[in-house]
Amino acid sequence: MKTSATKPAASRPSRASRSRGPSARELIFGDLWEFDPAPETADPHIRSSYGLFINDKFSPARKGGIFPSISPGNEKKLTDLALADAADVDAAYSAASKAYEKVWSKLPGNERGKFLYRIARLLQDRAREFAVAESLDGGKPIKESRDFDVPTAAAHFFYHAGWADKLDHLAPGRQVAPYGIVGQVIPWNFPLLMLAWKIAPALAAGNCIVIKPAETTSITALKLCEVFQEAGLPPGVVNVVTGAGETGAAVMSHPLASKVAFTGSTEVGKAIMRSLAGTGKKMTMELGGKAANIVFEDAPLGQAVEGIINGIFFNQGHVCCAGSRLLVQESIADDMLTRLKLRMQSLRVGDPLDKNTDIGAINSKEQLTRISELVKSGVAEGAELYQTPCRLPSKGFYFPPSIFSKVTQSHRIAREEIFGPVLSILTFRTPEEAIEKANNTAYGLSAGVWTDKGSRILKMASQLKAGVVWANTYNKFDPSSPFGGYKESGFGREGGRQGLLDYCKLL
Ligand code: NAD
Repeated sequence: MKTSATKPAASRPSRASRSRGPSARELIFGDLWEFDPAPETADPHIRSSYGLFINDKFSPARKGGIFPSISPGNEKKLTDLALADAADVDAAYSAASKAYEKVWSKLPGNERGKFLYRIARLLQDRAREFAVAESLDGGKPIKESRDFDVPTAAAHFFYHAGWADKLDHLAPGRQVAPYGIVGQVIPWNFPLLMLAWKIAPALAAGNCIVIKPAETTSITALKLCEVFQEAGLPPGVVNVVTGAGETGAAVMSHPLASKVAFTGSTEVGKAIMRSLAGTGKKMTMELGGKAANIVFEDAPLGQAVEGIINGIFFNQGHVCCAGSRLLVQESIADDMLTRLKLRMQSLRVGDPLDKNTDIGAINSKEQLTRISELVKSGVAEGAELYQTPCRLPSKGFYFPPSIFSKVTQSHRIAREEIFGPVLSILTFRTPEEAIEKANNTAYGLSAGVWTDKGSRILKMASQLKAGVVWANTYNKFDPSSPFGGYKESGFGREGGRQGLLDYCKLL
């Protein structure tokens, strides 16, 4: 830390709050004290271009199509990616089919498990490099990719490695078998972790894979292919094709895919379901969310503030289960708003690679435009906006942490998934009203409950229509615990025994 009167601060209190003078609660040093930049310096080893990963080889798209991948933190190009068309996707499925028939389906579970263990360990060996690549490519703060994304991805491979030779215990009294070939498409918010959520259970269950990462965040998927090569995974067992929606549609609709798994927006999920209706393909859909984080007056408020901040600002709010609707009991609403504003002032927005950054870059220009548009709608519809006074970097896509008070259930910001660092605050008086408001959404992915009373937690959890309910915490994940939605948040589970069963046929 050093003193500086001139250096721009990533995040500062307003002039007004500073002029109130020092108080016991506001230890904020304004212009006087500023962190030195602390960039993570590990080399992410990103190649200047990547081909499609088919049959253990990186090769260009057949028609030679390419597209750039840029860093949202500074808008610089990171690499060129190959644009796969339907013929490339077909080649990936042929490789997967050959691998399944000739090698993978013949391997006993303990041998498959060895590959998963190797992948997990190699990922751990290269954790720092993967974390830097993930933050550069997706914009998330390095402390999150380093402490959450990469270790949790490795944990998924370890967990499923353990299952590979124990599938007989997956469904007592029933035998299970792999589907054969699965097609998978994932979004951009947790590129490596979503990849691990998809690939690890599919391989443990004995399937071969064709997977498409999101067009803005494909780099760690392609780096993971290097890990597959290093681990000696047989050619064709996992194939990675890059591209946008058309490539994704080709992956989902290919006749060789007996099962498809999609994570992304509800709108695209519905389109895929419509196009696959009647094909007999087994589907799982992990879609959008608009979670309620419910705080009762008897909750430990200090802890709740941390949970609310983490619930909405983790990964810039690009989280399907983000606690984007805060339901706070009316008696503590003013106090909670004051506490949240104070806590927000110490959030540092800026360079994703800086170890002090709390909120990094918005993943793409399109997403920034969508967030800005929804925030404008909130103001226009009469909600009250508070944004922390912070100076955003001049290059890159950034949005200040934002909270809306005086939100009603009809406001767009209370109904639509913003997928950004924007919290909408509503109030309630009774537990019944909290449940009614929390469930008043088309989604049903997650929820949070903050209260001192265990019985109230159990009652709320049983009445909230959400796949995951956290109590006195938020955003806790473990490979052994299933995750998935109700209603328009999708169907099927990822993680745990339930997630693995979604990659197996019951005989
Ligand atoms: P998106 O639906 O736009 O894209 C997701 C993926 O689908 C991308 O790889 C994209 O290229 C591909 N795609 C686009 N059109 C397609 C089509 N017609 N056919 C097949 N594939 C197609 O979503 P996004 O903006 O990348 O991700 C954000 C969304 O993902 C949010 O709604 C979020 O809630 C959701 N999400 C859900 C979960 C969950 O577990 N429920 C997890 C992460 C993200």
